[in-house]
Amino acid sequence: MKIKADYTNTPQWKEITIKSNLPEELKCLDELAHNLWWAWNYDAQNLFQSLDEELYQEVQGNPVLLLDRLSYDRKVAVTKDKAMMKKVKDVYKKFRTYMDVKPNSKRPSVAYFCMEYGLNQTLKIYSGGLGVLAGDYIKEASDSNVDMCAVGFLYRYGYFTQSLSIDGQQIAQYNAQNFNSLPIERVYDSNGEPMVVEVPYLNYHVHAYVWCANVGRIKLYLLDTDNNLNSDFDKPITHSLYGGDWENRLKQEILLGIGGMLMLKKLGIKKDIYHCNEGHAALCNLQRLCDYVDSGLSFNQAMELVRASSLYTVHTPVPAGHDYFDESLFGKYMGGYPSRLGISWDEFIGMGRENPDDHNERFCLSTFACNTCQEVNGVSKLHGWVSQKMFANIWRGYYPEENHVGYVTNGVHLPTWTSSEFRELYDKYFDKNFINDQSNESIWHGIYNCPDAEIWETRMTLKKKLVKYIREKFTQNWLKNQGDPSRVMSLLERINPNALMIGFCRRFATYKRAHLLFTDLDRLAKIVNNPERPVLFFFSGKAHPADGAGQGLIKRIYEISQRPEFLGKIIFLEDYDMQLARRLVSGVDIWMNTPTRPLEASGTSGEKAEMNGVVNLSVLDGWWLEGYREGAGWALTEKRTYDNQEYQDQLDAATIYGLLENDILPMYYAKNQQGFSEEWIKVIKNSIATIAPHYTMKRQLDDYFEKFYNKEAKRFKELSANDNALAKEIALWKETVAERWDSIHVVSQEANTLIDGVETGVPYKLRYVIDEQGLNDAIGLELVALKGVQGQDDRELYSIHQFEMVGNEGNLYTFEANIEPAKAGAYRIAVRMYPKNEHLPHRQDFCYIKWLN
Ligand SMILES: *Cc1c(COP(=O)(O)O)cnc(C)c1O
Repeated sequence: MKIKADYTNTPQWKEITIKSNLPEELKCLDELAHNLWWAWNYDAQNLFQSLDEELYQEVQGNPVLLLDRLSYDRKVAVTKDKAMMKKVKDVYKKFRTYMDVKPNSKRPSVAYFCMEYGLNQTLKIYSGGLGVLAGDYIKEASDSNVDMCAVGFLYRYGYFTQSLSIDGQQIAQYNAQNFNSLPIERVYDSNGEPMVVEVPYLNYHVHAYVWCANVGRIKLYLLDTDNNLNSDFDKPITHSLYGGDWENRLKQEILLGIGGMLMLKKLGIKKDIYHCNEGHAALCNLQRLCDYVDSGLSFNQAMELVRASSLYTVHTPVPAGHDYFDESLFGKYMGGYPSRLGISWDEFIGMGRENPDDHNERFCLSTFACNTCQEVNGVSKLHGWVSQKMFANIWRGYYPEENHVGYVTNGVHLPTWTSSEFRELYDKYFDKNFINDQSNESIWHGIYNCPDAEIWETRMTLKKKLVKYIREKFTQNWLKNQGDPSRVMSLLERINPNALMIGFCRRFATYKRAHLLFTDLDRLAKIVNNPERPVLFFFSGKAHPADGAGQGLIKRIYEISQRPEFLGKIIFLEDYDMQLARRLVSGVDIWMNTPTRPLEASGTSGEKAEMNGVVNLSVLDGWWLEGYREGAGWALTEKRTYDNQEYQDQLDAATIYGLLENDILPMYYAKNQQGFSEEWIKVIKNSIATIAPHYTMKRQLDDYFEKFYNKEAKRFKELSANDNALAKEIALWKETVAERWDSIHVVSQEANTLIDGVETGVPYKLRYVIDEQGLNDAIGLELVALKGVQGQDDRELYSIHQFEMVGNEGNLYTFEANIEPAKAGAYRIAVRMYPKNEHLPHRQDFCYIKWLN
């Protein structure tokens, strides 16, 4: 036998973690570190920081890593330090008191699904606004004592870290997270083995580990496929946020929805409401349908129960923002489901199509969400209306303004986003019950009792803190990446905390129009170079790696910022994350936002600014359309004046320059003898008193209960009582109506008078006799009037008038309407018939419509 040149096998790596030992007295710190409660409690953060200031910086505020790395000597020293031990005890006691409160069982319980959660910069499982919103939501659910759990992913690489090349090109870097040094815990099964959820894909299973992030009283369960139970094809499912191709996206959505439900089942968790935050999670309803069918219900019965207990929140305002899948790809993964549900493939994929029979239409997860959730909502009033129109094709027969899509305007978690400096002011001048009664505007009016000088000092403290933070954080990087050290140093020195500072920081998507300010560079140069009234702009934000235009914007702004006339006046700050966001939303004077209307569904960073005495200058879009009050910030006009985007940009830019030159700068620099502008403080006070109270996460959470959760939970209870009796009854009724729908017909009508010679103030009677084909009073009739004539684009739904059912003989039902036209003009009228049942939550729940001749 010839001896081989080499002969070995590959090592079977096993991950082990060597835990650092904590003295008994400090064991409670480990518990504290593993609950993200510290992320919104300053005394807890201070405690960890005071264990070792330098190390705290080094581990970027991650207490788990801090405890790991803290030397044993230092730990022992802490146990001997009386003052430190008192701090430890006090914070731990506060934590335990908080944790020992039982969830409120009077409110419905909620399972919340989202692709990303922004809880703290140490846990990189978010990319931007959607994630931060979800993170804020579960933090508030914890504070408000809601019986909630959340489902998401533990990403190995999360979203990328951003740096810029010397010419301003965005460089995306993906760093692997070491799960053992994060503020999360592994979940074990009853045998003490790491819990594994087996999720069916094609003809095999993907294995997901389960982790738990304790968010105060709320548990956020995170799925993780990056393990050796999976093939190399499936490990990457939870590698990165919004990365990979469409196939990977579909695999992610299967994991989140179906895997998420299977995980909850394994954990023994059942909730009243299933909330899909964005369409990504909608397949949770597919698993729930399967579970009900497995339990012996028919598909239609199962659908009644699933719909009644689920809510879909949409965050995008444009159809292109939704996820669509080709039939072939979708079929590859989902082919087995129709038979499990007892329906055909076409019926199945049709749930994700606006036109279920159109074989060319791709499967849209958002459409599926609309079809399987009783309630749907947008995230601001304007976005609610935009969403009504966006989804109108799903519920044909009704006009957009008639459909049930509602809205809850987004808010922000106050304890997370309020700087400790402003929090102290609030504690000093506001009612003691403030935190529990955040939406009560009258409490916030307490800010008017705070002396102007105190507000100004607080603002100055925060501005200086931001400048200090920037110098500390960016000096090294800029020296490394931007060449010419003397230039970098001069730039850093030029950052003047006494200047009026304006922030524009958010994702670099083109619709946000970060370029707007640079429409007229000469005018801008004049504004920023007036020695009497210095102005400083900070830009920050990431562009999606696949978004070339967004990256182009960053490059352009970076280039402009390097020109001599803008050096130190316009500054791009790399790697926008929650940490940098916290400093910026509290450190600048003005928060600017210039989206193309109506593409900013809500926006939340301006709300964070509100909590810190930072005033908004923004397009009246998203939340600002509702939030803006005169004398409490600035608004760019609501009306879109030009269809041509370029002209519109020029007009909007000119408006901003004008506002800066004529209003904002003169006001900011009208300083009194104490060195501040009283007018400016007035604007700050007005914005805190009248705007901030309406944009907290508490208000948002309460809105979800009032508008959706309570109503749905009550109905679900009715539907599911007595072995789902009502759900079965409604399903049967719908089936019967659907079967006979085409044969239900008009037997006679007297309505012709309404064509010619109609006059205002004169009553007219309309009368229809309908053969209901054996159904018992299951039909409603209504007269729909549109203003304007055929061919006019701007049709307006003028009125809807219900017919009254005045009598029946056998199958024949007589309907009458008495109409008395009030206003003269040209109208179009038609009568439509719909199935009528008091148990339906709304018309779109059973969207059958027949227009009568
Ligand atoms: C709040 C926040 C956002 C969202 O900002 P918008 O103005 O709503 O786009 C994005 N990224 C981070 C890090 C945030 O904190």
